[in-house]
Amino acid sequence: MLQSELWHKLGVTSREGSRIGIKLEKKGYIKRVKAFSNDRWTRRLVPLIKPMNIKPLLGVPCPSCVYDPVCGPKSEPHNRHCVLIEEWLLGGEG
Ligand code: SF4
Repeated sequence: MLQSELWHKLGVTSREGSRIGIKLEKKGYIKRVKAFSNDRWTRRLVPLIKPMNIKPLLGVPCPSCVYDPVCGPKSEPHNRHCVLIEEWLLGGEG
């Protein structure tokens, strides 16, 4: 995305937008790459954070489990020996 496109979407001035871009680059979220567009030099904002692939998590039983609010590393006995998780991991119906 060109930085000018982002500024328009955010409704900020080019000066404010440029500062935002510099901050995002310093934090490692994007890389600002020099680009030529519409007869002028500008910056293209390239995301450095890749979208997470959640496909392996599809079907995990926890979000719909009644024990989810209390289940955790210190809880007993659900997450230490959870049949639903075992079935899901092994590819069963879960
Ligand atoms: S680990 Fe098992 S018991 Fe705990 S929330 Fe997930 S499905 Fe429910």
